[in-house]
Amino acid sequence: MKKHFAFVSMPAAGHLNPTLPLVAELLDRGHRVSYAVGHEMVSAVEATGADVIALPTEMPKTAPNAQLGPQHLDTLARFLLDDIQASFPVLHQRLRADPPDAVCFDGMTTIGRMLAEKLGVPGIALVPNFASNENFSVRDVIAASTPEFPVEIFADLARRMQQAAAEFGVHAELPFGAPPAGLNLVFLPREFQLGADTFDDRFRFIGPLLGDRAEQPWQPRDPHAPLLFISLGTAFNDRPEFYQKCFAAFADSPWQVAMATGQRTDTDALGPIPANFDVRASFPQPAVLRHATVFCSHTGMNSTMEALHFAVPLVAVPQMPEQAANAARVEELGLGQRLDANAVTAEELRSTVEQVAADEQTRANLDRMRQIIRACGGAPAGADALEAHVN
Ligand code: UDP
Repeated sequence: MKKHFAFVSMPAAGHLNPTLPLVAELLDRGHRVSYAVGHEMVSAVEATGADVIALPTEMPKTAPNAQLGPQHLDTLARFLLDDIQASFPVLHQRLRADPPDAVCFDGMTTIGRMLAEKLGVPGIALVPNFASNENFSVRDVIAASTPEFPVEIFADLARRMQQAAAEFGVHAELPFGAPPAGLNLVFLPREFQLGADTFDDRFRFIGPLLGDRAEQPWQPRDPHAPLLFISLGTAFNDRPEFYQKCFAAFADSPWQVAMATGQRTDTDALGPIPANFDVRASFPQPAVLRHATVFCSHTGMNSTMEALHFAVPLVAVPQMPEQAANAARVEELGLGQRLDANAVTAEELRSTVEQVAADEQTRANLDRMRQIIRACGGAPAGADALEAHVN
């Protein structure tokens, strides 16, 4: 039977991107999808054919060189509270009048979880990073490796969010550490998940969903030179010193380098761009990775998964604790190497890229992981699980 699915996501590429192929699959199967997201991301969702609900939600603007410390968490806390107060009423008003059969919410969207409760329909979590359950919490992993992690901020935030949600007669859960939903679609293979044995069949590891983003037209300038792709993702990416270090490491080398510097970095201020570099704010990343020999990445989870989908070895330069956890997992599984982006010298950066490119064991591990990912089922498996859960 045809169903109406509501999706609620964050206006951030890393949260939105993996959901879009799932939406396309549901629409192909004749279901309806209403997709609620911050207004800046409306056009990306409209392209799928879903009905879009534009929310006032805007991602907090992080300061240049922001680190995930107390100040950033305070900004995040304010964002989550504002989102409940400003976006939840819009979301609820639209979907109360046109009720869905289920709400699929990004794990970070408290308002999606609240909507499912308010409407009394199943809530399904969409998880674009390490999943957590009653026995395994990625927050604990990150806190354990980050001595200055301000745990008390979370307790206070949880209390304030509960108060805000109570105004609407529902509960609010802190996005990190919320209890699992009845069904959780995780956009990674089980083999990459930390604490994988603790996850029962409420969790479906459907792997990364690249959809038609992998088919976007992009060709390397030189079809013969090895291609190094460098990107620090879309959030903690205003790192001019790091980009300059990349110039120093790979200018006058046999590499051709595609380097994404994000929307905020002033590329004119980076100095002369070496002839073998193509520097832009953004690239069609999956299409570039199809051709890449090595990916020097912040190891956001989507970037990590997109690299593994194409069996591209990673040189990880994480910019915040969650990315550091991903980088540690990459290294543990022999899929690349991790560096400290601040401490590494240009020479070390180049030698690590060359080592990773040449390493046969890494190549074998990547080939195996690519096979695992291709067998995860992707969007069709996600849609099957949703249909089974809602019917
Ligand atoms: N991305 C892209 N082009 C770029 C940089 C990033 O298309 O030049 C996409 C990338 O393919 C991924 C997402 O943006 O899907 C970034 O998500 P990720 O989880 O890796 O990191 P975040 O940006 O959330 O830190």
